[in-house]
Amino acid sequence: MENKACEECGGKVIRKKLEYIYLGENLGKFDADVCTKCNEQVFDEETFQRIEALAKNKGLWGLAAKSKVSQIGNSVAVTINKKIAGFVNLKKGEEVRVYPESKNRIIIETS
Ligand SMILES: [Zn+2]
Repeated sequence: MENKACEECGGKVIRKKLEYIYLGENLGKFDADVCTKCNEQVFDEETFQRIEALAKNKGLWGLAAKSKVSQIGNSVAVTINKKIAGFVNLKKGEEVRVYPESKNRIIIETS
């Protein structure tokens, strides 16, 4: 087996089986090249395609969506589409906690 060096720090890279967690779901263990120095983890193209296919199968892929901001009274409203609402099990009338994480990111926490 060829000895690869880490692209980030030049450290020694070893092959490891790593769990891949996507949107909180464990998709299983996959071969990854892991740097022993900086812990950079790299999945090869083929492995990543397998991970993507699994995520698609579970309906986890492509949940990100664009949404336009509308105005209701003095407040603004953002629509959350059916797919995302379903994924986080959000229903009408439910209370959520909304807070900014930074100047360009808002978190909506469901209970
Ligand atoms: Zn490294």
